[in-house]
Amino acid sequence: MALKSEGRFYGRVSIVTGASQGIGEVIARQLAREGSAVMLVDVQEEKLNSVRKEIVDSGGQAQSFVADVSLLAEAQRVCDEVVAQFGRIDHLINNAGITRDSLLLRLKEEDWDAVLAVNLKGVFNFCKAAIRTMINQRSGRIVNISSVVGLMGNAGQTNYAASKAGVIGFTKALAREVANRGITVNCVAPGYIMTAMTERLPEEVKKAFLELIPMKRFGSPEDVAAAVLFLLSDEASYITGQVINVNGGMYM
Ligand code: NAD
Repeated sequence: MALKSEGRFYGRVSIVTGASQGIGEVIARQLAREGSAVMLVDVQEEKLNSVRKEIVDSGGQAQSFVADVSLLAEAQRVCDEVVAQFGRIDHLINNAGITRDSLLLRLKEEDWDAVLAVNLKGVFNFCKAAIRTMINQRSGRIVNISSVVGLMGNAGQTNYAASKAGVIGFTKALAREVANRGITVNCVAPGYIMTAMTERLPEEVKKAFLELIPMKRFGSPEDVAAAVLFLLSDEASYITGQVINVNGGMYM
């Protein structure tokens, strides 16, 4: 592994939500490999701690925070602890997300509420809790993980599509609010990425998705992480309020 001090994110402090598996885990590992101190947030304590241990064992800097992103008080607690320890928050990656799929006819109110609470309110909560610190330091990068489904819709996912479209609107509004404070706010919208979230879909649904993808293959968490790390890099300093699609051409 490269020395931490050689990484392009050396000295920076990153918060990654939903970091115990899937896309968030890969983003966190790559940020740590490139020198950032990584604050791992998730509700799955055991998995979170094993990701933290592996990062630390391979020479990276990481801490874990068991917190539910849907609760503002928990987001505030995490950000306050990070600021108390490090004095800054450079990167916030809002990645935690859930699905509760069902056709609207059968969709339960609790499944609407749960998906909106994690996927959309979770983004509000962590941005709200971190933004004052970023404004005071006059720098910061926020990357929110949306979805291709927020752009094109998907039968059986009215709740998920609404939450992910909401994330895009939120991102553009906040980008305008803080653009003159040295803070960028962008979205990455993954297409079909191979993780636990998509693994549980029935084979025929996977096949139907593949038909929609011009590249005829599913994406990997690494494909998504590469776009996120680009948006956090110095090279992306003039990019804000944008949605980068990582979807093999599924939606253009
Ligand atoms: P995943 O289910 O593997 O990981 C999601 C993580 O979020 C899990 O570790 C989970 O414990 C955590 N989480 C869930 N609720 C939480 C809460 N209330 N508080 C804190 N953490 C919580 O899913 P993934 O595929 O890695 O998805 C990551 C993000 O990418 C999600 O926002 C998802 O909607 C989005 N996305 C995924 C795909 C895909 O094809 N996999 C496509 C588009 C968008």
